[in-house]
Amino acid sequence: MAQWKVWMMGLVLLAMTGCSIMTMDTESAGATTILRADGKLQVLFLDVGQGGSQLLISPSGKTMLIDAGNNDKEQMMLDYLQQYQIKKLDIVIGTHPDADHIGGLDKVIDHTIVDSIYMPKISSNTRTFESLLESISNKKLKVQTAKAGLSLDWDKAVQVEMIGPAAVYDNANNMSAVVKITYGTTSFLLTGDAESASEKDMIKSGVDLSATVLGVGHHGSKTSTSLSFLNKVNPQYAIIQSGKDNNYGHPDETILSRLKKAGAVVYRNDLQGTVSLVSDGTNVTISTERKGK
Ligand SMILES: [Zn+2]
Repeated sequence: MAQWKVWMMGLVLLAMTGCSIMTMDTESAGATTILRADGKLQVLFLDVGQGGSQLLISPSGKTMLIDAGNNDKEQMMLDYLQQYQIKKLDIVIGTHPDADHIGGLDKVIDHTIVDSIYMPKISSNTRTFESLLESISNKKLKVQTAKAGLSLDWDKAVQVEMIGPAAVYDNANNMSAVVKITYGTTSFLLTGDAESASEKDMIKSGVDLSATVLGVGHHGSKTSTSLSFLNKVNPQYAIIQSGKDNNYGHPDETILSRLKKAGAVVYRNDLQGTVSLVSDGTNVTISTERKGK
């Protein structure tokens, strides 16, 4: 991301939140401006074009990366991590083996200290997946199985629960790790590419699906965000990670109107670039890289 964009995002953040609660460290001229939530939970839906990636920074500075975009976004991912001064990732989650989610993860692992990594129990015979396994093996990391029922140890002020996949599926999208992150009275539901079959099983499991912010499943495809699921989540904000003019028609018009009808304010990577959400445990403040609507 060009520096002026980062700078602009800073201005937007300042305008929205006021300086008093936002720490802005500016390195010497020419270096990157760093935006870091202080005592707050920051969830960034990184603009990786057509693909998924969320970077989370906890109130005490712990880090988590969920997915890393496609293969051609490797350098972009490394640039993002540098921009946010992240040298260590406490938790890495590869939601499922599709290239638009794990493509950039091999290089991230090569160049970052990783504490723990979670992936669902489904493999793929792609070069992308093999390359990721090589990077994991080179770093002598042990993959922990992503599945419903796990509670992840991250930051004592933040609850991280894995609520999907709640069953075993042949379809890789449905095997997506689904994570619910709760800080105070605010919560974030990050769904990877989970489709309606997985959504149905999550509802059936009886887990509390309600969330302030929904990371919309499968780039806003109509395979996901079924009405019954959306009603359970009942989000105030919905973030869609899809690329400009993608070949899949994401996000689908049906889903956009469904979200609107449900009262969710929609933000999109393709229109607004990276979307940053900061929670103080009570309120969520949103800023976007671009103004686009
Ligand atoms: Zn995807």
